[in-house]
Amino acid sequence: MKRFFEWLRSYILYACIDPREFPKIKTAMDRNNQAALHAFSRIAVVLFATALLLSRSFQIEVKIDQNFGYSFGLVLSLIIYFANYYLVPRKPRLLPWLIYLFDCVLFGFGFLLAFVCSPNQLTISLLVMFAIVPMFFTDRPYRLAILYFVLELLFIHLVKIFKPAEMVNLEIVNMVVYSSVGLILGTYMTRMKLERFVFEYRVNELTNQEQLTKYLKSISNIYVTMYHADLDTGMFMELRNDVDALKPYGAMGPHVEQMLHHGALQTVDPDFLENAKKFLDLGTLKERLKGKTTITHEFLSQSGMWCRARYVNVDFDKKDELPRYVIFAVENISEQKQREKALISQAETDAMTGLYNRNGGVSKIKEKMHDRLQGMLCLFDIDKFKSINDNYGHQAGDKVIVAVADAMQRAFRDVDVLLRLGGDEFMVFLSKVTNEELGAQAIGRFFTELNKVSIEGLEDYNIAVSLGATFFRGGKVDFDDLYRQADGCTYESKKIEGRSFTFWRG
Ligand code: GH3
Ligand code: MG
Repeated sequence: MKRFFEWLRSYILYACIDPREFPKIKTAMDRNNQAALHAFSRIAVVLFATALLLSRSFQIEVKIDQNFGYSFGLVLSLIIYFANYYLVPRKPRLLPWLIYLFDCVLFGFGFLLAFVCSPNQLTISLLVMFAIVPMFFTDRPYRLAILYFVLELLFIHLVKIFKPAEMVNLEIVNMVVYSSVGLILGTYMTRMKLERFVFEYRVNELTNQEQLTKYLKSISNIYVTMYHADLDTGMFMELRNDVDALKPYGAMGPHVEQMLHHGALQTVDPDFLENAKKFLDLGTLKERLKGKTTITHEFLSQSGMWCRARYVNVDFDKKDELPRYVIFAVENISEQKQREKALISQAETDAMTGLYNRNGGVSKIKEKMHDRLQGMLCLFDIDKFKSINDNYGHQAGDKVIVAVADAMQRAFRDVDVLLRLGGDEFMVFLSKVTNEELGAQAIGRFFTELNKVSIEGLEDYNIAVSLGATFFRGGKVDFDDLYRQADGCTYESKKIEGRSFTFWRG
């Protein structure tokens, strides 16, 4: 019995649908009701107008109340039609009231027919309305039940006044039967429609979820590893992971801090570990991430892969608050690093010879000086180079420049910095060459290489250069000082015919 009442309550209140579903399907319900009201109010307008026209044009003898009833129904239906069309899209709350009003118009018309037009007959048309109206709209049954209760009281009252005494009981029984059938059938129909809306909503949600999961998965593919973490509880959830060191921690767990710490120790190159730990530190993370969408940090892995670690602020919309949820992800950026490196080296290289250009070479030498690495700076210029250009053409001149650069590369070591300053002027910084004896040896090697050069079409030409050299021994000199010293020596060497070099001696 108790269960029956529970069922009845649920049936009358919610048409047996889980009440939590109603907010989700409200839009579908409203759309459905608005369309139904649109159609039925239009039909009502047409019917009322027809009834009014007929009764007037055929001079049917009607009571004045009847025409008044038709006109009143027509006007109200028109108002409902237009209000539904123009106002409801802007004020959706109006819709249930319009529906209620429309129900009342219909029943008012039924009452008019039953009690004013044909008081002596059975009120079949009104009773049929009791049975049909509940099927028009999709709404919670209890609202209609309340309306029916009021209408029934009114009906009983009017039956007693207008109908012949012998018909009263039959009318009341009929009304109870028709209205009960109407309510039961109406609620049954409503329930079917609501179930369909719920089903459609679920299917929609499912496809949205699937889409989202698909997008997330495809995005996470560009990461080596990706975790979702709750900073308050330390809980983490794996979204993707290719890193073996993190695999023992599983797809889920309560110790994100421990996992990240362990992961860093196992994978980050020792030189980068200190900074990586600072970046990973969860103690300061909330502050660092507050008001930002993401923060990143680049490091080299133990396997030589360049990586970019990233924290993403999941609670970014709560701008003024500290974030609670974050996504941690690591991306392989080796390719990008290589491209950057290629671009930098392109900008630092002299295209014709492959040596450093002035900018690239000078900054490399300055770096060495900054690191207090001692060495010898040589500056030299090809002798009478213009005459090669003039007598044999520019291309022959180019060949000579390239041949000199090749000779430099053969004579000097990889750790030395070789550059073409421009034109026929070159420079070398020889690391660890700190005295004239070592310097003379190195320059001798270079001159020997120059001797071996043979250029097609210039077989008789012997490349001569004038070279000036000075030493950097870590003192208070800067690059410009050394440059000036070497340049002065070059000038001295120019005075000597053939290959020659001069050391700066202060
Ligand atoms: P010096 O013995 O005094 O050094 O006389 P030089 O004839 O070598 O004259 P200088 O070093 O002043 O002139 C260098 C010339 O090199 C000037 C320029 O026309 C030429 N030159 C500069 N860049 C290039 C180049 O890329 N290719 C060729 N073929 N010639 C160049
Ligand atoms: Mg020259």
